[in-house]
Amino acid sequence: MTKYIFIMGGVMSGIGKGITTASIGRILKDKGFIVSAIKIDPYINVDAGTMNPVEHGEVFVCDDGLECDQDLGNYERFLGQSLSTDNYITTGSIYLSLIQRERKMEFGGKCVEVVPHIPEEVIAKIKRLEKKAKADFILIEIGGTVGEYQNLLFLEAARMLKLRQPNDVLSVLVSYLPIPNTIGEMKTKPTQYAVRSLNSAGIQPDFIIARAAVPVDGPRKKKMSIFCGVDEKDIISAPDIKSIYEVPVNFEKDDLGNRILKKCNLRAKKSNGLDWKRLVSNIHNPKTQVKIGIVGKYFKTGDFTLMDSYISVIEAIKHASFHFKAKPEITWLSAEIFEENPKLLVELKKFDGIIVPGGFGNRGVEGKILAIEYARKNKIPFFGLCLGMQLATIEFARNVCGIKNANSMEFDEKCESVIDMMLEQKRLLKENRYGGTMRLGAYNCKLKPGTISRKAYGSEIISERHRHRYELNNKYKEILEKSGLVVSGVNPEKDLVEIVELPRSVHPFFVGTQFHPEFKSNPLTPHPLFREFIRACIK
Ligand code: GLN
Repeated sequence: MTKYIFIMGGVMSGIGKGITTASIGRILKDKGFIVSAIKIDPYINVDAGTMNPVEHGEVFVCDDGLECDQDLGNYERFLGQSLSTDNYITTGSIYLSLIQRERKMEFGGKCVEVVPHIPEEVIAKIKRLEKKAKADFILIEIGGTVGEYQNLLFLEAARMLKLRQPNDVLSVLVSYLPIPNTIGEMKTKPTQYAVRSLNSAGIQPDFIIARAAVPVDGPRKKKMSIFCGVDEKDIISAPDIKSIYEVPVNFEKDDLGNRILKKCNLRAKKSNGLDWKRLVSNIHNPKTQVKIGIVGKYFKTGDFTLMDSYISVIEAIKHASFHFKAKPEITWLSAEIFEENPKLLVELKKFDGIIVPGGFGNRGVEGKILAIEYARKNKIPFFGLCLGMQLATIEFARNVCGIKNANSMEFDEKCESVIDMMLEQKRLLKENRYGGTMRLGAYNCKLKPGTISRKAYGSEIISERHRHRYELNNKYKEILEKSGLVVSGVNPEKDLVEIVELPRSVHPFFVGTQFHPEFKSNPLTPHPLFREFIRACIK
């Protein structure tokens, strides 16, 4: 019988529900169970593809082309599994599928109502995943915090499933315990209120994950236990720690895995693997360090700047660094400052390597091109991801091939279109079809023998995830190659350039990929190109 664990948030957002869900998954997987996970986002957008990442965080892409919340990236990285559309729900997608069924007369003339039909649709989706994944456990993370109007119907789904299968459903509340400076004491009251809100939705938590700056002590566990109706042993400390990859190990200190199994009347099928512990030990005992500069575009909200839009890139850098027992030091460089003051480019000398990540729109583009030129000329290891690859090609076309007006049609419609919009994309946009229509998801790429990329992957055909509308214009391929740019990867079906690089003889590492390698990196198996990039940086 499949067990369902709902993970909900209390007090405030951004306290690590996603990492908690991913970590519980990792713990159960290490105990020998088949695990899958679903993220529920309360917004009306059908997927995350139409949301601005600079404001909402990274848009993660799965093999099947789903554009989703960055938490699916966390699940994939912790579980070491590929996920898909089966693992993602938004309010928009649930309403859409329900309305489509209603239009097909699937309800046979009945009145279709928000309750119970929306929660039923959620449960049906969970059941579909259960069948496909043959999972022992399905973790369902409900976005937002309890008490919000937006996620009520998802709490309702959890309640209804529990009513139907009382022995198969657990609820976990991830809550925050502040330690106000002026008081100097950890306060449990906000969490008590969060549990009350959950209770009023008909749900009693089985576990409280107590997020705080430090571990929760005995007296506070006792207090919460009484006021929240949760066994002291099921209040799990989740103090701030250095690395998210430590979270599963930390949860296990409070025996979370076995507590979950006990409530489900299950026993571990094997003891926790050593791989994860070794990883955490590598993180804690670095032998060297590596300084990476990410030249990107950042979002300011009042006095705060958000970095969430590049989360998979950051994690991929970490995975490759941990592989070499190196401590990564990542610095954010706003591309726009190089446009305002090119003299600042010398700052790039401080870094062991430079990354230009993906992006849309022309803000900061010329600054990124200046940074790429600097990295190329000064032989600083460079890795360009999607837009980063397109800009590296433009830089090469302008400064090496002498095509002064080279650009992407995305930024200048009168340019020499070294980067042009793909044909089918032109048609889609003419019809205003924006949602879910980019070149998305996994496509094959054939690698050229003898190149950096071919050596890194160790195989000729690879598959990587995409999210773009523009592409290297094959009209310019010959002149680029003649001038020394190596096209090391091509999509065999459509003859699209997927990777460009400079030979090792002229540069220590200069690689750009049209795809997003960062989406397929995970801590136990770092991505081959990130690995080789970091290797070059350490050298
Ligand atoms: N804006 C570029 C395109 O659409 C690059 C996209 C990206 O970096 N993901 O092709």
